[in-house]
Amino acid sequence: MQSKAKILLIYTGGTIGMMKDFETGALKAFNFSKLLQRIPELKQLDCEIETISFVNPMDSSNMNPESWIKIADIIEENYDSFDGFVVLHGSDTMSYSASALSFMLENLNKPVIFTGSQLPIGDLRTDAKENLITAIQIASLQHKNAVINEVGLYFEYKLYRGNRTTKINAEHFNAFASPNYPELAESGVHLKVNHALLLPKSRSKKLKVNTDLDNNVVIVKMFPGINEAVLAAIFNIPNLKGVILETYGSGNAPTEEWFISLMKKAIKNGLHIINVTQCSGGSVSMGQYETSTLLKKIGIISGKDITTEAAVTKLMYLLGQKVAPNVFKTIFETAIRGELS
Ligand code: ASP
Repeated sequence: MQSKAKILLIYTGGTIGMMKDFETGALKAFNFSKLLQRIPELKQLDCEIETISFVNPMDSSNMNPESWIKIADIIEENYDSFDGFVVLHGSDTMSYSASALSFMLENLNKPVIFTGSQLPIGDLRTDAKENLITAIQIASLQHKNAVINEVGLYFEYKLYRGNRTTKINAEHFNAFASPNYPELAESGVHLKVNHALLLPKSRSKKLKVNTDLDNNVVIVKMFPGINEAVLAAIFNIPNLKGVILETYGSGNAPTEEWFISLMKKAIKNGLHIINVTQCSGGSVSMGQYETSTLLKKIGIISGKDITTEAAVTKLMYLLGQKVAPNVFKTIFETAIRGELS
């Protein structure tokens, strides 16, 4: 008989464990032990659950590379003792954190499932219970070995690949979308896993945790009327190493001389520029229109159908890995954790 799965619940903060401050009326994080008291149902699950909390749980707007390293370190320290990990996290930046962790955790052979909620666990109409309980069930799925071997994000009946998600709604319980990759599992009367879409088990058994992240990067969203002085100031930021350029449609941008020569000069000076689309779905395809042909020619990297969240965290990760300039473009354009098609 197979023994019960052991799950580590990592509480980082977020609405799921918040309560109202009497004086200000604002939501703020509260003691994690109270979170478990509020969900006695957890004891009914067919798995063993242990918990660990950030010393100072945070609203996810305060997440940064140091907090990602904290999550990664907790997973590394407990990797051999647990079958799966559930990370409770605010929804605001959850897609960034799930993307970052997907790159940081190399050779992952166990599930790491991010979840949270739109309403606090104590609220009568809360979405927290379903999200938390099913995330734990998903992390517990075993078939001799772990079923999910990647970083997922579970919210409102759907499990997504974490680095394919984006937060789309601050009001609806259905807060996330994965516009360019189907859901990995769906929770209805049955929990249906789409096995064909999962990342295969890593051949190497040894988890490698990469904590070198370089945040000398910027996201620039193009808009009609963006001017040379503004863009030049951004591209001249001291020590800037990479730019995520959010372009139009399938990767299109102005063909004006000043724009192209600014990009060209920046690339020549060693800056990595990645073209991602500001559309919520679809892919960059440089060369499809005249307005992207020059971008391709001057060596701009194609983000293909990557999300901005995955693009910026992949950029920090590859820069942290000190990937050589001559292979940077090829590596960025290749899926390393299923983040692009
Ligand atoms: N502001 C909260 C956070 O991201 C929202 C949430 O938890 O859903 O931490």
